[in-house]
Amino acid sequence: MKTLAAELAFFLRGQARQNLKLLILYCTFLLILVLTYSALFRFLMWQLEGREYSFLAGLYWTVVAMTTLGYGDITFTTEPGYLFSTIVTISGVIFMLILLPFGMISLFLAPWIEQRLRYRPTVALPEETRDHVLIFGFDAVTRALTRKLQNRQIPFIVVCSDHAQAVRLEEEGFRVLLGIPTDAQFLKGARVQAARHIIANLSDPENTNLCLTVRSLCETPIATLVGQLEHGELLRLAGANQAIALKRILGRYLATRATTRGALAHVLDSFGRLQIAEIPVQATPFAGQTLAEARIRQRTGLAVIGLWERGRFTTPDAATRLSPKALMVLAGTREQLEALEMVTGEEESDDLVLILGHGRIGCAAASFLDRRPVPFILIDKQPSPDCLDHVAVIGDATSPHVLRESGIDQAKGLIVTTNDDSINIFLTLASRHLNPSIRIVARANREENVDQLYAAGADFVISNASVGASILNNVLEGKESIFLTEGINVFRRPLPPNLVGQTIAESRIRPLTGCSIVALEREDAEEPLVVPPPETLLEKGMGLILIGSPEQEENFSRNFRG
Ligand code: AMP
Ligand code: ZN
Repeated sequence: MKTLAAELAFFLRGQARQNLKLLILYCTFLLILVLTYSALFRFLMWQLEGREYSFLAGLYWTVVAMTTLGYGDITFTTEPGYLFSTIVTISGVIFMLILLPFGMISLFLAPWIEQRLRYRPTVALPEETRDHVLIFGFDAVTRALTRKLQNRQIPFIVVCSDHAQAVRLEEEGFRVLLGIPTDAQFLKGARVQAARHIIANLSDPENTNLCLTVRSLCETPIATLVGQLEHGELLRLAGANQAIALKRILGRYLATRATTRGALAHVLDSFGRLQIAEIPVQATPFAGQTLAEARIRQRTGLAVIGLWERGRFTTPDAATRLSPKALMVLAGTREQLEALEMVTGEEESDDLVLILGHGRIGCAAASFLDRRPVPFILIDKQPSPDCLDHVAVIGDATSPHVLRESGIDQAKGLIVTTNDDSINIFLTLASRHLNPSIRIVARANREENVDQLYAAGADFVISNASVGASILNNVLEGKESIFLTEGINVFRRPLPPNLVGQTIAESRIRPLTGCSIVALEREDAEEPLVVPPPETLLEKGMGLILIGSPEQEENFSRNFRG
């Protein structure tokens, strides 16, 4: 049934869809022709021969004449009648017996056969294939992941069970394998046993089945995305090495950026002893000071490696003024972050965060705020079937009335997390209008909408696809990269051999690649050297921790290959 549906889907795409419109138009023309002839038949029969026939009889006569069946049970006996019969029969031959089948063949059958002949789905990989990444389930997240894999020149194969999707992806240039993901024989053909990693991005039950089937064959690592949090454990039991609860992670990202509360910086991630953390400037006594005046480095040892303001990430210098609306990105050890805690001020007591959308991600954000604790109000147009922990205001968030009643005027932060990007853009714009000083963190379901959300007034945008792809990429890389946000990563690289013996200034890493060095890891020392000065000598065995955009990361790989 699925195959038939997939075949029929062929006629709804591209040129075939245009042709289908043409066919419908042609059939309408034929119908009008038949109806006109039927009406004329009745009129002529009555006028010429005095015989009266029903409309249905007229229709019957026309079809019989046009298709040249000619039973001869109803016939004209006058000369003009003979002429009319001849015209009907000849137009039938032309329009029904020649043009219609010809059109059907040239517009549909031929392209379909051609496409079938041209596209031979790959159902097994060559024996020698190895070290490939197998991706089960193609969506915005895995699409973003494939871009990263392409950059890093890691071979990957997308596995599809749907013929039409396989054709589409192959047309886009992907290497596609067509088959049933839970069929052990097919998995052998996909060379799971020689694969570098398996990405399971199907539904939770399908992922579980896939994990079990793979585990019956081999020990290849499997990273799976988890739809429902409770299923993570089951997936691990089934053999997944990583079960990534993406929605919870997204909720956490949204929540930490929407609140200014919490004197302790929020640790994003760590590379060994080096932690990368974010803290709102407002939660520190440095608001309004320049970086030089704040003396954060001297007081705590931490380095401010970035500043977030209105969706723009900048690398600050000594003269940069710390706006209270900005978020500082810090690099340093846990002790250094604790030293910062000693100098940061009291928590703001009247924080309030509005969460628009109580789906899985909104719920995760709420749970995160609950633990801190930060007061919040959830708004959703329908009650959540999965959540027993929170009570949401039920109402359409696009109505300004609902937003005002929920207290948008007093709220300090706003999390916009519906599943519709247009609504998210609209809500961002409307909320910015209602409360110009509110901190807005918005979720982009599709990467293309990130810019529009910023343009609508969001302070931070978290894209599901980018975060998901970054996390998967980290898993594949053995966690060598930290996702800060759209377009900024902190990543680790071993010191390229040709840079050994040079100083940081001589290495020209920044001018050549655009990446900045966040820290140096030294073999002999426990502590990483945070933001090393330009005269620091690069020594053998050192690890570089860098910050830059994906393009800059790629520049680094190109300029300093092994
Ligand atoms: P999820 O994708 O699981 O995070 O779910 C998104 C949530 O957004 C769902 O619970 C939707 O009901 C909710 N939602 C969508 N549109 C609106 C809207 N206009 N106002 C309030 N909630 C909405
Ligand atoms: Zn909830």
